[in-house]
Amino acid sequence: MKYDAIIVGGGIAGLTAAAYLAKAGYSTLLCEKESTCGGLVNSFEREGFVFDGGIRAIENSGIVFPMLKQLGLDVPFVKNKISIGIGDRVIWVNSDESIKGYQVLLTEQFPNSKAEIAEIITQIRAIMRHMDVQYGIDNPVFLDMKEDRKYLVKVILPWMLKYALTIHKITALNEPVVDFLKHYTQNQALLDIITQHFFRETPAFFALSYLKLYLDYYYPLGGTGKLVEKLVTFIEDHHGTISTNTQISAVDPEKRQVIDTAGVTYGYRRLIWAADQKSLYRFIDPEPITDDRVKNAVIRRRENLADKAGNDSVFTLYLALDLDVSYFSSKASEHFFYTPSSVGQSMAGPVPINEDRKTIEKWLEEFFALTTYEISCPVMRDSTLAPPGKTGLIVSVLFDYGLTKHIQQMGWYDDFKSFCELCIFNTLDSSVYPGIKDAIRYRFSSTPLSLARITGNSDGAITGWAFTNDSMPAENRLPRILNSIRTPIPGIVQAGQWTFSPSGFPISILTGKLASDRVIKELKNLN
Ligand SMILES: Cc1cc2nc3c(=O)[nH]c(=O)nc-3n(C[C@H](O)[C@H](O)[C@H](O)COP(=O)(O)OP(=O)(O)OC[C@H]3O[C@@H](n4cnc5c(N)ncnc54)[C@H](O)[C@@H]3O)c2cc1C
Repeated sequence: MKYDAIIVGGGIAGLTAAAYLAKAGYSTLLCEKESTCGGLVNSFEREGFVFDGGIRAIENSGIVFPMLKQLGLDVPFVKNKISIGIGDRVIWVNSDESIKGYQVLLTEQFPNSKAEIAEIITQIRAIMRHMDVQYGIDNPVFLDMKEDRKYLVKVILPWMLKYALTIHKITALNEPVVDFLKHYTQNQALLDIITQHFFRETPAFFALSYLKLYLDYYYPLGGTGKLVEKLVTFIEDHHGTISTNTQISAVDPEKRQVIDTAGVTYGYRRLIWAADQKSLYRFIDPEPITDDRVKNAVIRRRENLADKAGNDSVFTLYLALDLDVSYFSSKASEHFFYTPSSVGQSMAGPVPINEDRKTIEKWLEEFFALTTYEISCPVMRDSTLAPPGKTGLIVSVLFDYGLTKHIQQMGWYDDFKSFCELCIFNTLDSSVYPGIKDAIRYRFSSTPLSLARITGNSDGAITGWAFTNDSMPAENRLPRILNSIRTPIPGIVQAGQWTFSPSGFPISILTGKLASDRVIKELKNLN
């Protein structure tokens, strides 16, 4: 059978694309290699505790709610409150004015850098104003222009003017955030504390906009995976086919077929690749391609991507605790960025790639004492997500894929996981959560290798390409985001976190929608 559209990858990008194609009435097949869809958006249950295995909460960005509204999906959300802590001080991010609290928090830690902090805060305020414009409206891509004419005239047209005046200011702030901040301070510990929970070399406008974005975070009742469940049901209700446990391992653009690891062939009129991008070019044999321009473009792209790295990954510790949620809500909010010490992560030294076990263990101890933790507490948002009187915590840190791989090759991967778990709960026990060590019912962890295995993403990357690459192999200019879905191969478009930079959850949805729009247009022209 030949499908109008095949989508490879059942993460949020592939699900979005499949939902719109199925809604438009095209025969649609979504191939997902795992037994469930969702990729980096998923929730799972263990002994009554629900944990989110990927993204901890969802930023709307003028994209998520408009997409759900357009599809007619009712997903109940609660506001996801963010707090930031250093040592024994914690602030809640409740409004634009929380920036003042952040300034106080930093100044308390670094009194000698008071004037520098004030200048940095001025810069952050300016970026927050730019972001007000960028995300200030519902993204027009998710509007039905014929029905929303009033919105078009009253909101979108005036917004476009403001946007045109702002976008160059945003793109001018493309410099890595640490370099940008060095214009204002040379205090390495201060630089670390502001930046160490961002990916290496994150562009300044992206990193420093987070105090704004934090106000736009929501949590689906029941867990982040509820969003995935709703999309899956929607696709199936609209006669789309979702084939799980179906790993595509070859793409034949000449015959317009994909082939799975069991040797089953599926024909397509249009293909949307919504999975790891390196693998697309690995799975195409360029030899049989008759058009030399296409053949050469595929070869060039494969070569170009070969040495490009994925962005940082995460080490995550899942804790089921015999402690009531009130213990945690008295200390911080449900989504908490916590740095136990203001010494700064640089003091641990560079990632000890290729070093021996003793050196690595020493580095790990220092790293876990100094780094910034993203701590998520599902039951604080939804009381059904843990047994009464108990709490599940998800604690993660950005972590290097290469180091984890090196450790695995040396043969102490399981010990490494236990070692990291120990470092993490010892650090939290001796700082913000005294007593948790003795309240652990059970614990387990995942590493960058787990994420790479489960999602197929290069380097276990959680948001696409690394900013450290010598050149960015994806579109990175927002006004040109339409370019991001293009491939050099006729009949194939792409979507998801590898197609645009900086990326993440909203961009995956946006590119999924843009890819489906393109395919729907092309299929209409074919008919
Ligand atoms: C801990 C964590 C925190 C995060 N926080 C944020 C945040 O605060 N803000 C934000 O914007 N983003 C965040 N993200 C990132 C965000 O979740 C991802 O960028 C986004 O979900 C990626 O979606 P995707 O569909 O592009 O890719 P993925 O979720 O990676 O989906 C790809 C899918 O393709 C499948 N697949 C791969 N290869 C094949 C194949 N050959 N055949 C069939 N199927 C295949 C995979 O199994 C997977 O289901 C976070 C992620 C994590 C893990």
